[in-house]
Amino acid sequence: MQTQLLDTIKATEQGQEAEAILRTCVHCGMCNATCPTYQLLGDELDGPRGRIYLIKQVLEGKTPTAKTQTHLDRCLTCLSCETTCPSGVQYGRLLEIGRELVEQKVGRSWSQKIIRSSLKNALSNPRLFQHALKIGRAVSGLLPKHLSEKIPATIQHSGWPQTAHTRKVLLLDGCVQPGLAPEINAATARVLDRLNIQAMLAPQAGCCGAVRLHLNDQSGAIKAAKRNIDAWWPLLKPESASGVEAIVMTASGCGALVKDYGQLLKHDAEYADKALLISQLTCDLSEFLPNFENELVAKIGGYGGDNVSANVGANVGTIIKQRVTWHPPCTLQHGQKIRGKVEELLRHLGVDVQLCVDSHLCCGSAGTYSILQSDLAQKLRQQKVAALEATEPELIVSANMACQQHLQTATTIPVKHWIELLDQILAELPSALPSALTTDLSPRIKVNDSVNELASIEAESLSQVDEGMSKAVQKKVVQKKNKSPSSHKNIRKSNVLDGADVDLSAQKTVNKRSKKKT
Ligand code: SF4
Ligand code: SF4
Repeated sequence: MQTQLLDTIKATEQGQEAEAILRTCVHCGMCNATCPTYQLLGDELDGPRGRIYLIKQVLEGKTPTAKTQTHLDRCLTCLSCETTCPSGVQYGRLLEIGRELVEQKVGRSWSQKIIRSSLKNALSNPRLFQHALKIGRAVSGLLPKHLSEKIPATIQHSGWPQTAHTRKVLLLDGCVQPGLAPEINAATARVLDRLNIQAMLAPQAGCCGAVRLHLNDQSGAIKAAKRNIDAWWPLLKPESASGVEAIVMTASGCGALVKDYGQLLKHDAEYADKALLISQLTCDLSEFLPNFENELVAKIGGYGGDNVSANVGANVGTIIKQRVTWHPPCTLQHGQKIRGKVEELLRHLGVDVQLCVDSHLCCGSAGTYSILQSDLAQKLRQQKVAALEATEPELIVSANMACQQHLQTATTIPVKHWIELLDQILAELPSALPSALTTDLSPRIKVNDSVNELASIEAESLSQVDEGMSKAVQKKVVQKKNKSPSSHKNIRKSNVLDGADVDLSAQKTVNKRSKKKT
């Protein structure tokens, strides 16, 4: 696409970035075919190609209007168009630049400003959100339906493991998940505990910044990213003795943004390196758990697939036999480009899992979209629920709390995070006994306590890991040890950055040791 950007815009970093993106677009319009808002509204300007034109015009000097803003607001940022585009156009980044520019020139009415500011502040602050939730429960009868249906009854998680393990990962509670779906992280912690991995929460970490980014508050999103980096850095910096090897994301929306921290802060002298390392150490649960498929299959083994009926002594047979439909969130399949992993893992564990038609299309949740564009969001939800229900599932599973909440309000079929299903299956197995659980709602391990505790076991863990590694893997680790004094950190880095070979060897050794000890 030819461009003639204003000189004043061309002189900025954002202008240059936008121009480079615009030039990759060849106007083919293939992206329109998979755009939910184009399918719904049939207007070129409500599809990706039209929005790209609108942004181009603004960058070239045309004054945007409220209509321009509406077309950009209607975009779900689902990034389905990025998946479809044969030219690799980075539409999402272009939209961020375009929205910011249009916001500056068009502005918002006072009522819109108040709503957007309230959402930003209430949703991105866990404490404020908990209070808002309490008030919302009290007055839910007075709220419009699209708001009242989003307020669930009080929910508590059913136990967080208390056993310390040599291997550790960080989870992120984020902003709304502890209030709306605390069971997701607790279930993750229990599954990891059964794999001899300890799940931790850094006390100062909070909202990833996605809520603010959705609402065009880029500086607020950067502030949130920096706060999280500060919270995680003591556990993840190269010289740390914490043993934390990854940040495992249970909400694909948060994961997509945290993986982008490196990009978001690449020009920040103080944070660029830290942000990059943190992005590299971040993975979705569906990237982390398949590394332990063998262990999980061994635990479930005789109970899965065709063997269910032969071993139907426990409820597990009933659970695995459930017809399950997988709803992949956009932030997982388009944002993080992770496709097929959850279904594959669940199938290998014997679960009858399927996809619905048009599974690439957004359910309409999309951050604050379901509140700010409620009509469109409800239509998209209606279509998605109809497609999901057509598969006649007994359970719908997903990987993002917001999608789950959004869908659950329109169907009587239970909608859960897939880790809750796996946790339930493992909980029913006599061979997968959980360690001691706590129902403490704030099972956070203070960073300093954790570092002290971990420093004392690091030497033992290193000998365990080193002893069990294959010669090739040992060579790889020795090479890395020579580059840095922290050998444990090197192993951690290679787990995440260089593939699963070290990961699995080390894990098997630790598992064997644990079994011998017990
Ligand atoms: S964004 Fe990609 S798919 Fe859409 S018109 Fe441009 S090149 Fe074609
Ligand atoms: S991000 Fe989604 S809604 Fe927005 S233009 Fe792309 S496909 Fe359409």
